[in-house]
Amino acid sequence: MATTSFTKKSLGLETSEPAVTPPPASTTTTSFTKKPKLGAAKSKKREIPEGLWTKCPKCSTMVFDKELDENLKVCPRCQYHFPIGARERIHSLVETCTFEELNAEMTSVDVLKFTGTASYTNKLAEYQKSTGSKDAVITGMCKIGEHRAALGVMDFSFLGGSMGSVVGEKLTRLIEKATEKNLPVIIISTSGGARMYEGMFSLMQMAKTCGALAYHAQARLPYISVLTHPTTAGVMASYASVGDLIIAEPGAMIGFAGPRVIKDTTQAELPPGFQTAEFLQEKGFVDKIVGRQELRSEIARVIDYCGK
Ligand SMILES: [Zn+2]
Repeated sequence: MATTSFTKKSLGLETSEPAVTPPPASTTTTSFTKKPKLGAAKSKKREIPEGLWTKCPKCSTMVFDKELDENLKVCPRCQYHFPIGARERIHSLVETCTFEELNAEMTSVDVLKFTGTASYTNKLAEYQKSTGSKDAVITGMCKIGEHRAALGVMDFSFLGGSMGSVVGEKLTRLIEKATEKNLPVIIISTSGGARMYEGMFSLMQMAKTCGALAYHAQARLPYISVLTHPTTAGVMASYASVGDLIIAEPGAMIGFAGPRVIKDTTQAELPPGFQTAEFLQEKGFVDKIVGRQELRSEIARVIDYCGK
């Protein structure tokens, strides 16, 4: 009994082994020597253009990344403004080594214990890791040209630049500090609106920031609001729209609700260029459209004009 079962087992192994082993052995050796070469060549071919060139979504020109960085992420051919991070933006605006960040460690608390596809706590951790920032705004004191100023810059890459209690609180503290120190305020906005993970607490930031700006205005200090692509909803309906001077970047989408929602609600055909910076300038809402390369000199000029 034992011997028969033993032979059967060994037979089973024998049949599978000689039948399978020789052919793959030959193919694996050949493919093993060829595959890595092919794979390496392919990945190199793909990686080079991806890492060095970026295709402009407006004019389809392949722009050399170094050139794009030097041009502050603006297409040299058609002037399309690519999205830019908050740190890069600050670097492009302030005098070297003059930016002193405020409240950098302030983080949101998940007061509502919000859970959707992922919990709010997990979302925050994920974005803090990917962006290296604690929330969607960076605030601080700086020098632009010859002038001291309070600067707040939003980052769309952090949860769509949404305004939660941290964004509201950081901006409010910045504005209050500017009032105290007799300085102008500049806020560069980009946002999808209030952060719904924080419900009512995010909506309260609209009134809070505007309240601080009202005190700043009472002190007769200038506030320059810069609207970049996209500035919408709760942010647009609060501090972004109450600037003494409202500047916009070319082609930026600016509005409250999105065009599709408005079209569905009003059942009317929307005019061409609806909700663009250019359209809003024509209607008198935006005071000036300024390209990214001229923004620094333009802000300095305005502050100078205001005598601050
Ligand atoms: Zn272009």
